[in-house]
Amino acid sequence: MQIPEDFIEEVLARSDLVGLIHARVPLRRSGKNYSACCPFHKEKTPSFSVSPDKQFYHCFGCGASGNAITFLREYERMHFVDAVKTLAQAASLQVPSTPTHGNEKKANTRPLFDILDKAQSYYCEQLKNPSVNKRPIQYLKGRQITSSAAKEFAIGYAPQGWDNLKSALIHSNKESENALDAGLIVQNDKQRIYDRFRDRIMFPIRDQRGRTIAFGGRVLGDDKPKYLNSPESPLFQKGNELYGLYEALQSRQSPKKFLIVEGYMDVIALAQHDLRFAVATLGTATSKVHIERLFRYAPELIFCFDGDDAG
Ligand SMILES: [Zn+2]
Repeated sequence: MQIPEDFIEEVLARSDLVGLIHARVPLRRSGKNYSACCPFHKEKTPSFSVSPDKQFYHCFGCGASGNAITFLREYERMHFVDAVKTLAQAASLQVPSTPTHGNEKKANTRPLFDILDKAQSYYCEQLKNPSVNKRPIQYLKGRQITSSAAKEFAIGYAPQGWDNLKSALIHSNKESENALDAGLIVQNDKQRIYDRFRDRIMFPIRDQRGRTIAFGGRVLGDDKPKYLNSPESPLFQKGNELYGLYEALQSRQSPKKFLIVEGYMDVIALAQHDLRFAVATLGTATSKVHIERLFRYAPELIFCFDGDDAG
């Protein structure tokens, strides 16, 4: 969908950036501007400033800046069109209808977050379930993963069998559709539906706000593929996400640097040694988005890859 440029100008002119941000990040008046601790990087003293005159925000700590549309895109992770629509609605403006190009993303992602959250709880419960957890626990012990690390990273287990998750979580066509969109289940060409992840250790991949957006699943033995990731979805673009970023930002001391490693297990192993600044790309090369994202939080990046082509 294309929105005319002058309509975007009008939406911005009629939007209240201070109110928009204040509803999400409490602001305090300071002179003619407003300030807060920046929502885009960790800090203890406010360096995030909002100018009601310019309708512009800027962080002197991490350099995040922009207008109301930028804020919704960055903070709520909205697509551009959805951000404009949200602001238009708040300003009681009708978005002019122009021909769509068929690539409009579905606006409502909440059902996907919900089903992924349920799946994460389900997988964690299975790791505690004595009737299925002997092998996964043994595997994690073998890899010297402590129970506190398992808890921090919300590690779970997808049991053997084709429809464990499906029968536990899916009771309607709507739920089935959401689970398909979120990549939790697969439909084959005979319309049969089954669990994507079977007999795997499950690592939830979380966004910066801690919401599960995808999973990585590792086999217990030598089966292939060793790692299976969720497919791309409206919530998950592999080339943008970093495993462990949320956990690193949650740790006691905000990271001064990041170590970019290859896998989930590296991130967790380092965290267990109190090196809480490791993140992993998800089977993709390090992208511009990854690097920009990390530089928001820390000025130094260290790459630590194997010497193969992917590295
Ligand atoms: Zn900042």
